[in-house]
Parts: sequence; C-alpha cells; structure tokens
Amino acid sequence: TKAQIGVTGLAVMGSNIARNFAHHGYTVALHNRSIAKTDALIADHGSEGSFIRTETMEEFVAALERPRRVLIMVKAGDPTDAVIEELAGLMEQGDIIIDGGNSLYTDTIRREAAMSERGLNFVGAGISGGEEGALNGPSIMPGGPVESYESLGPMLESISAHVDGEPCCTHIGPDGSGHFVKMVHNGIEYADMQLIGEAYDLMRKALDMPVAEIADIFREWNSGDLDSYLVEITAEVLSQVDAETGKPLVDVIVDAAGQKGTGRWTVKSALDLGIPTTGIAEAVFARALSSATDQRKQAQGLESGALAAAPTDAATFVDDINKALYASKVVAYAQGFDQIAAGSAEYDWNVKPGDLATIWRGGCIIRAKFLNRIRDAYAENPDLPSLLLAPYFRSAVEEAVDSWRRVVSTATLMGIPVPAFASSLAYYDALRSERLPAALTQGLRDFFGAHTYQRIDKPGTFHTLWSGDRSEVTE
Ligand code: NDP
Repeated sequence: TKAQIGVTGLAVMGSNIARNFAHHGYTVALHNRSIAKTDALIADHGSEGSFIRTETMEEFVAALERPRRVLIMVKAGDPTDAVIEELAGLMEQGDIIIDGGNSLYTDTIRREAAMSERGLNFVGAGISGGEEGALNGPSIMPGGPVESYESLGPMLESISAHVDGEPCCTHIGPDGSGHFVKMVHNGIEYADMQLIGEAYDLMRKALDMPVAEIADIFREWNSGDLDSYLVEITAEVLSQVDAETGKPLVDVIVDAAGQKGTGRWTVKSALDLGIPTTGIAEAVFARALSSATDQRKQAQGLESGALAAAPTDAATFVDDINKALYASKVVAYAQGFDQIAAGSAEYDWNVKPGDLATIWRGGCIIRAKFLNRIRDAYAENPDLPSLLLAPYFRSAVEEAVDSWRRVVSTATLMGIPVPAFASSLAYYDALRSERLPAALTQGLRDFFGAHTYQRIDKPGTFHTLWSGDRSEVTE
C-alpha cells in the first residue's frame, strides 16, 4: 500500500502530527534528514497506526499515492527552502507540498509562485497548538490554491481540533494568507500573554497577594468571560511550587522573556501596512525590555516618585483588573483583525475574519470562549469597521472602561508598568476622539516641509506661507 500523506521533519511537531494522521486511519510515510528520528518514532509509536519508514527522499516520494501530499515540518527559513527544492525535483504535476512550519508569509508567497511555475501545488499552512495540539488536534490555517484544498482539506480537517462538531481548519486564501494569519495569531498570543502578565503583576505589587491566591483568581476567571487556554495555564504555572526551594516556581524563573520572531514579524508587517497594532507591539517591546538584563540592573536605583498608596479594597481592585484585562484583550484582537483585513486587501486574499474566529476556538494557543463572540460579531456584520464597534464588544468595553481607567491610573501612580493595558486604553480613547492632535502634526509638517494640509470646511489642499506673509495658498 502507498501512503496518503508523507511527513518530513520528525522533531516534536512533525512526529506528533504524523502520529495524529495515523490515529485518524491514514497511512503515513515518514522521513527525516537524520534517520535516528524516524527510527525513534517507529520504535516508540509504530504500533499506533500505519507508518511507512523511509530513509532517502527518493524512497519517501515513491511511497506516496498520487497526487502526492507531503507535509514539511522542518526549521523555518533556509532548511525549509532546501527541503522544498529537494522534494520538488522528485515530485510530479499536481502533487502537493505543504509547509506546516512557522514560515514568514512573504517566503510562502515566493515559494508558492516558484512551485506553481513547476506545476506543483504549494500550501503554506499555519499550525498552532504546540506539541500537544499537533498530537491531539491543532488549529490549522492552510493557504494556497483552492484545488489543493479539495484533496487535502478533508485530511487536515480530520486531524484538527473540533469545537461543537466544527473543525478548526479551513482554507484561508491564496499563497501566503495561511502563514500571514498564523503570524497575526502569534502576535495576538504575545499581547494576550503580556496582558495576563500585567494583571498578575498588579495583584502582586499593588495588592501584595501571595502567588497561590493569584493562581486561584485566574482559575476563577477561567470560568467567566476570560475563559481561555492561556488563563487556564496561567493558574497552572502560578500554582507550581519549586521542588528545590519550596518557592513558587515563577519566583525562581529568570524574568527575561524570549522570542522566536513571529511577534516581531507581526509588528513589522503592521508598520508596513500602517495598522496601529499597538497591543502586540507593546508586548514584543516588553519582552525586549525584560531581556535587557544588564541595563535593567543598572537602572534599579532610579527614583520612582510613586504617589499613590495601594488600593484599600482588594476585591474591587481585582474585579477592576479583570475588566481591564478583558477590555485590553478586545483591543488586541480588534487590532489583530484590522491587520488581517489590511493584509488581505493588500494581497487580494479575501480572508474571512469570521472563519478565523471559528478555527481559533480550539486547538490553538489563543483558543478562548471569547472567540465565539467574535465569530457572532462577524456573522452579524462581515464588514465590521472594528471589533470594538460590534454591539456586544462595544457594551462590554463601555461597561469595563471605568475599571480600566482605575487600573491604569493606579498602576501609573504606584509606578507599576502596564504598557499593554495603558496603550490599549490610549488606543480606545484615540479611536473614539472627535478631534486628534494630528491637526497640529499636519500644521508642523506644513511649517517645516511644506507638506500641505486639508481643511475641515472646504475641499482642496492648502499651504500656509510660513516664511512669508503667512497667508494661505491653494496647492
Ligand atoms: P525544529 O524547528 O526544531 O526543527 C527540527 C527539524 O528540522 C528536524 O527534523 C531537523 O532534522 C530538521 N532540519 C533542520 N535543518 C534541516 C535541513 N537543512 N534539512 C533538512 N531538515 C532539517 O522542529 P519543531 O518540531 O519544533 O518545529 C517544526 C516546525 O514547526 C518549525 O518551522 C516551527 O517553527 C514550527 N512550529 C513549531 C511549534 C512548536 O511548538 N514547536 C508550533 C507551531 C509551529 P534533523 O533531525 O536531521 O536535525
């Protein structure tokens, strides 16, 4: 028998996805650059399903039924290009190459174009859910030609997570769209984690709460509007006690956050598209600042000038934090969805935001009950100008806004950094402002660079003769 799918790259992600395919009854051809990983998978899990062990790329390709479907799960970047090149030389018209790694969407656009010239279908698929998701059901965001989804879609859907019977996998759009939305998903994940971190920090520093108590609060929040995987595992991490010291584990972990790059990519793309994805940007910069350990050490003596005493009513303040977290989270998602809409328009992808809300409800790291609301919002109005203007979110945020202000002002007065809470509130305030100081910016630009401006009371483009008699001229 031939295999219905092949997986090359059998590190954590690849081997778990290969097993997931096998668990769903597919015969899976296995390949890895170093044979040891292939053999380890067969030795440890060979009995879980139908696998075909291969050593060379030629053997691997020959083990597949036509049209061949190969999922590449190797390191993103050059290794992925090398593997694609090797495979493409062996595959035939109509075969499908799927890149399931965290590839940069512009690489995917380039690769798709090159493969389609050679008559091959190239599918850039974002896969989220970490190793656990890969094994038991990830959220999958495949891009690429629609035709390839006909033969591939049902297989990917069957191994994806399911929520209310619906798969967490759908065709996203052409070429780089799948990896683009996966990138923004990861960006939102950064924002979500930063917001959770700020909420935790406030409970610790403003309320002086023991870590175990904070864990209980997150556990409780997980049964309300904030119900989500990240809030759930926050309770787990905060409950963990270090065996060696007896302290909460979080107190012995070095407070310098790492990053692998997808958050940074999201922000770079947001800058290029001109979309104010401030929540994600603050989260990426907060990680960068946390990692500037030497600089931080030397800055530790700087005067705080903190003005405010801690809130006296802890329960009320915890409730305020909950609402600030929720409202800031709505902003982060609103911005992320704006970026996706802008990317989709820029590249002509026709990505449907409601589809993303649907497939992010399960399997992926940002899975949350909240996404049902986003899905409803886009079902009601597919052309929503901002998530903040969907009736449900509008009233939820309006209801939370007093708490949000109390949290940001208390944190600021006490000298506790809340960059994501604060910038999300500033975004909200700017968005709802009738007038912005951008009018002054335009005036300044006209003064030093004759960049012109528009007037609110008549059409046309104007310039003031700043170095002359300061009369206004029409451009
Ligand atoms: P790694 O990113 O650590 O990649 C290791 C795999 O890549 C090994 O199979 C390795 O082969 C192979 N490889 C590296 N260089 C080459 C090369 N030049 N030629 C051929 N093969 C090569 O593995 P992960 O399982 O962590 O991730 C796989 C992909 O999935 C990555 O793109 C990652 O970004 C993405 N991803 C990872 C997630 C995670 O939670 N880890 C979540 C979602 C996506 P060998 O054994 O021979 O060294």
